[in-house]
Amino acid sequence: MFRSIKKQTAFILLVLVTLLMTMSTALATTYVGSAKSDKFHYTDCRAAQRIKSSNLVYFYSREEALNAGYVPCGICHP
Ligand SMILES: [Zn+2]
Repeated sequence: MFRSIKKQTAFILLVLVTLLMTMSTALATTYVGSAKSDKFHYTDCRAAQRIKSSNLVYFYSREEALNAGYVPCGICHP
């Protein structure tokens, strides 16, 4: 009985840790680009908000976007 409660607690903890990791990955996304263009933006740029979600490309750093061949947007100057 006691053993199974421990197992359940471990499982809940594992789920929580996974959730936290997923959330921090989402928060770490600072830049977005479109698969249809060569510009990258800050996530809150009005041009970025017009990109279809199916075309969104996420970058975790400016370098990552530049290395992928993207150029900074002229509106938000990332
Ligand atoms: Zn922009």
